[in-house]
Amino acid sequence: MPPIGVFGGTFDPVHFGHLRLAEEMADALGLDRVLFIPAGQPPHRGAPRTAASHRLEMVRHAIAGNPRFVADACEVQRPHPSYTVDTLTALRAELGNAQPLWLLLGADAFLDLPSWHDWRRLFELANIAVAERIGARLMQSDAIMEPLKSEVLQRQPADGPATGPAGSVLLRAMPPLDISATAIRNILARHGSARYLLPDAVLDYIHTHQLYTST
Ligand code: ATP
Repeated sequence: MPPIGVFGGTFDPVHFGHLRLAEEMADALGLDRVLFIPAGQPPHRGAPRTAASHRLEMVRHAIAGNPRFVADACEVQRPHPSYTVDTLTALRAELGNAQPLWLLLGADAFLDLPSWHDWRRLFELANIAVAERIGARLMQSDAIMEPLKSEVLQRQPADGPATGPAGSVLLRAMPPLDISATAIRNILARHGSARYLLPDAVLDYIHTHQLYTST
């Protein structure tokens, strides 16, 4: 049963850092597809400035033409806060317990994990793949602290795609793309060019709908 990737984010807006992470993980883990799941109401950060419908539509534009990438509206459609643990529980119910799932995370999101709702259960529901910066080995750094460090150490470390449905952790070095949605929003707010930081189709959508230009 080919594994499926689950990639959540605010995607305000989606950019090449997100797309590259998903593409590299899809290759490394042999993912059949990657579900891009824009958060509706992120519980662990301030409200996104852009309506969820726009953020979902930008993801759709960004991934058009990539047969492995799928935009998933499940969190956007939920009326209550979208916890990742709820999303994975719903996916498990839909896909069954045997389906290998990989939750894809950037290093910053991973280090923040203990602040997420019911975070230890994430390891029961999915495998977790973390993109770490080349040279910055998370487990050997001071960046990872308890209780996350112990949780990862007691998990079976994965060094490749051949794993079970859940419970493994993969830390994968990836060439960093120093792009953030915050930086893109700032550039657009001062009417600068964000070209080559995100797909042209997303930029066209942003300009058509006049997103991010007023502060
Ligand atoms: P913001 O600047 O608004 O905080 P962001 O660019 O960090 O946004 P998010 O939607 O918050 O984007 O991130 C979704 C996921 O993508 C997280 O797991 C995050 O770690 C990861 N991510 C974001 N930017 C990059 C990047 N340049 N390279 C690799 N992973 C990234």
